Amino acid sequence: MKFCPECGKDLKGSTKFCSECGYSLQSLISNEIQSETEIKSNSINVDDESTSEIWQESIQKTTRELGDNLEESVERIFKDRGYETSLRQRLRGKSGQLNEIDVLAKRNKITVAIECKNYDENRKIGIAEIRNFVAKLEDLDINRGFFITSSDFSSDAVGWAQNNPNEKQLELWDGSTFMEQFKATVLGRTNSKIVRIENCIEPKGNIDDFTNLTLHNADRVTLRRCDLIFHPFHIVTFNLNEEFKTPDKQIHTSHNSGSYFVDGLSGEIIYHQDDHGYVFETSDDEEKQFVKEIENYNPVGKLELTQKTGSQIIKVEPSIASNDAQFRVRIHASKDNQSRVPYEVRISKDTYESRDFLHKPDPNKIITKSRLVLVPKVDIEFESKEYSYSRIVFPASEIWVKDEIAKCKHLIGSKHTFAVCEICGIAKCEKDIMIDDNDICFCKKHASQDLKDKNKRSIIPDKLKKFSFRR
Ligand SMILES: [Zn+2]
Ligand SMILES: [Zn+2]
Ligand SMILES: [Zn+2]
Repeated sequence: MKFCPECGKDLKGSTKFCSECGYSLQSLISNEIQSETEIKSNSINVDDESTSEIWQESIQKTTRELGDNLEESVERIFKDRGYETSLRQRLRGKSGQLNEIDVLAKRNKITVAIECKNYDENRKIGIAEIRNFVAKLEDLDINRGFFITSSDFSSDAVGWAQNNPNEKQLELWDGSTFMEQFKATVLGRTNSKIVRIENCIEPKGNIDDFTNLTLHNADRVTLRRCDLIFHPFHIVTFNLNEEFKTPDKQIHTSHNSGSYFVDGLSGEIIYHQDDHGYVFETSDDEEKQFVKEIENYNPVGKLELTQKTGSQIIKVEPSIASNDAQFRVRIHASKDNQSRVPYEVRISKDTYESRDFLHKPDPNKIITKSRLVLVPKVDIEFESKEYSYSRIVFPASEIWVKDEIAKCKHLIGSKHTFAVCEICGIAKCEKDIMIDDNDICFCKKHASQDLKDKNKRSIIPDKLKKFSFRR
């Protein structure tokens, strides 16, 4: 008995496609041959980069394989980032209950709890799972949590994580982000000064502007990491031009053309546009921005970038082959272009009945073409005492999709931060920060009673002044 490498179901003797999930076994075979020849040619040539051996290994690693060892793979990412890690820790919380944490990571004063869920591609993480995890963080008094899955999050879960007023910093990594971070951290580093990248969108702007901080005490914050990551996408154009017959022998035609954007790491289709319009097939802000970058900028054929000290340039190779991306698109386009065609059936001498014929285009007759585009994003990590903060900037459009250190969460919405607390490092808005006579900043939790009292006294007259002088 043989099993599908994609979904694990019994193949029931099929050698071409898995009847369960549609995975192409042909492309699997050609991929294997391809990587075998790559290894052969690689062993003849002398490597110019020390990472290329591990690199070859990784090309064959799909999300699925990495997902099987999700916790171990996640552990490697955090170790590489200077954390000390431990697996499957059972910790007693404030409630007296034991909470199991998949990966616990510690660096200096920062503690991070990581939940890992290895689900197959089609099973999404829902709101309940995210809520349970945040409850664990509460119980254990851990500020920062990562929820990492090999699959994806439901749009409800993404929305809840973005808007929850809870103080906890929660980061969600789907299969694509996890693969990107794994490849970037564990496999993507190079020591060469010059990095050559092909078919990429060109980054603009200055990296120093992206790491800039406007806080009152910015000197209390350290820049931990600044990576310029190139994320791979397959842009698959398609052309559908098919004739078919309804049961009444009438000939109809089905036409459509356009393109699908396939994530080169997870194989997920994140966007498509055709003769009828466009559809975002993702609710993730970062993935949406990737789409906009591809829509708005033409890639350049060749680019040479110089690595600066303190910042890394990482080119992430795709895990999904072009053939596989095109196969996925043909299946998807066939579903997207289903149509119901009415036809008439004669049921007696003079009576006709109208019926619907469901036509689904043959995926094999949809013509596809694929090209690879690498989209740059800047991935930044700051650290201050017990807190770490992530910032993500797209350097072609100079759009910031995420900036944790700039946000002070309030019950409704958030305010721009003013400073970090000298004791714990939390970034808070002007209202939530108290400054003593030596210009040192404290959060409400860590300000002395004296400072709090002084602050109260100074706020009340200020407010009165405003009221009395306003007309
Ligand atoms: Zn399958
Ligand atoms: Zn504090
Ligand atoms: Zn605030």
